[in-house]
Amino acid sequence: MKTYISESYDVAVIGAGHAGIEAALASARLGCKTIVFAMNLDTVGNMPCNPSIGGTAKGHLVREIDALGGEMGKAADECAMQIRMLNRGKGPAVYSLRAQIDRRRYSERMKHTLETAENLDLKQAEITEIRFRDEDGKKAVEAVVTRLGAVYPVKAVVVATGTYLRGRVLIGEVNYPSGPDGLFPSVALADCLKDAGVSVVRFKTGTPARVKRSSIDFSKCELQEGETDLCPFSFESKKPPENKAVCHLTYTNEKTKEVIMRNLDRSPLYTGVIEGVGPRYCPSIEDKVVRFADKKRHQLFLEPMGEKTDEIYVQGISSSLPEDVQLELLRTIPGLENVKIMRTAYAIEYDCVDPTELAASLEFKKIKGLFGAGQFNGSSGYEEAAAQGLMAGINAARGVKGLKAVVLPRSSSYIGTLIDDLVTKGTNEPYRMMTSRSEYRLILRQDNADLRLTPLGREIGLIGEKRYRAFLLKQKKIKKELERLKNTTARPSRELNAALEAAGSEKITTGARLSELLKRPRVTYETLSVADPERPKLRRDVTEEVEILLKYDGYIRREEREAEGFLKEEARLLPKDADYLAIEGLRLEARQKLDKIRPESIGQASRISGVSPADVAVLMIWLDRRGREKREKKDEK
Ligand SMILES: Cc1cc2nc3c(=O)[nH]c(=O)nc-3n(C[C@H](O)[C@H](O)[C@H](O)COP(=O)(O)OP(=O)(O)OC[C@H]3O[C@@H](n4cnc5c(N)ncnc54)[C@H](O)[C@@H]3O)c2cc1C
Repeated sequence: MKTYISESYDVAVIGAGHAGIEAALASARLGCKTIVFAMNLDTVGNMPCNPSIGGTAKGHLVREIDALGGEMGKAADECAMQIRMLNRGKGPAVYSLRAQIDRRRYSERMKHTLETAENLDLKQAEITEIRFRDEDGKKAVEAVVTRLGAVYPVKAVVVATGTYLRGRVLIGEVNYPSGPDGLFPSVALADCLKDAGVSVVRFKTGTPARVKRSSIDFSKCELQEGETDLCPFSFESKKPPENKAVCHLTYTNEKTKEVIMRNLDRSPLYTGVIEGVGPRYCPSIEDKVVRFADKKRHQLFLEPMGEKTDEIYVQGISSSLPEDVQLELLRTIPGLENVKIMRTAYAIEYDCVDPTELAASLEFKKIKGLFGAGQFNGSSGYEEAAAQGLMAGINAARGVKGLKAVVLPRSSSYIGTLIDDLVTKGTNEPYRMMTSRSEYRLILRQDNADLRLTPLGREIGLIGEKRYRAFLLKQKKIKKELERLKNTTARPSRELNAALEAAGSEKITTGARLSELLKRPRVTYETLSVADPERPKLRRDVTEEVEILLKYDGYIRREEREAEGFLKEEARLLPKDADYLAIEGLRLEARQKLDKIRPESIGQASRISGVSPADVAVLMIWLDRRGREKREKKDEK
């Protein structure tokens, strides 16, 4: 193939999915000349799976992306058709926003944002090769090449290729090379990465059928409406999205199970044709029926795909069974007796990188200027992808500018937890974020993502002056209101005691600080309004913060102390050139694991599976001795 030198860029992003979008915008907004490629521009920000953003822990990620200056939160607020706060019955640590998203509108919104962003070009082209040069004995990126032979000289590349790399779709006995939604797979680039020594793993994921709305009898299903009294995803959005659509619930039954069990021998999952490893937390219906054999029924959500489409997404029934079997099993479900399939469910397997090849900055340890993000890094989910895309874009741009990479510690965010889990522990299945993955759930709530991350977003350069001033004002109001409640005494009154009793709380007989009353279970900021006529008019997000900080004060302080201890360990950096294989006292497994992962700190070393606390102790002694020897040498000079 004849090639020609095209325009040069600072940063090239391969993929305009959820990861690529955030990476490209961050890099361009930080002043780097950036280009982002997609196989097909009509699939920018495509949702090949559930038409929704958020959910448990995923809602936290979206708010953190927004707090740092990313784009997903704003786009989700603009394109939401229904929004709910999940886990309201539990504590604020697990409250999570989830919105049904108009899939077409979201893609158009994100495409237009990329098209109109400064410093950024969007191009439809398949990247078939990344070219490398030698830089002081280490590989470094030099250019990307398209299928048509255009060579783009670049200083950094972010690979965000999703489920396209050597994609293969499987439906019953039929399978063929393909990306999601009938799009081309990306094979040449997969070969190029393998030749460059990148170790890949084979993962798999699956999606359910999309069915025709008018073929559903919704009278046999349960209605699920959106909620109002909640916050938007973005801290910049003035109000939460309007609820314009509803979802419905229905359930599988014994007949559904019978159809599946009768056809398991036609499922590529059970005939061993599928090689890729799938997500345990998002099992196909075949897996659910087999693994939870005692369960009589499985819950399904009928979710609208958009305002201007008749397509309904059947959440909870992803499958790779043959098409005829899919129709038979769907028609056993209440409401779907006469259903028509518009898009057949399928499984897709694809290549992704072993994320332990990446540093915490998401740069490849062995290839300078090459970054990975999203499903390519072994994660699953739009939100997980966008979070990594943002950090990879920030660090690709900072790398080009010779600035230090930004790494978010686990104690600061779910984004930090996600990336640390991937690069330190690796993953042997598509990694999905969950609140249980964090040691600091109470301080990493979705409501305080801005308090935790917006100052850093400002420092990096992604949070503008106007937004930052609004953020400082909010912080000031929270602080002031906390002080005021701590210094305001409520007198016992009929109204107050009636309100306390209504909340199931004890009456008061003597004066009590409002802050103390607010600490009581079920007593809310609203409850105390009867005893607090002077209170200032404050926005919901301010009063919610005040309420949580008072109610969970003790627990929050304890977690903050633990986080401080954690940060101390993270601050004990390990030398990049450490020869772990030679450190006496370390067990063999630990030497090998440390040599492979090459942790950046004692803290990260302690999280590597196979590195015991005893090994960490040996490492700390070695580090101290090395430090002492260095100082002695210096003193001798
Ligand atoms: C069938 C299916 C089922 C899924 N099920 C779930 C699920 O149940 N739960 C869940 O959380 N997530 C699921 N997902 C995953 C979810 O879709 C992804 O996590 C998310 O889209 C990943 O975002 P990304 O940006 O990494 O990649 P994608 O959104 O896949 O975007 C990849 C981008 O890379 C581009 N590209 C690829 N190769 C090249 C190349 N060589 N040159 C130029 N451009 C290229 C593509 O055009 C596209 O723009 C599913 C995905 C699929 C396909």
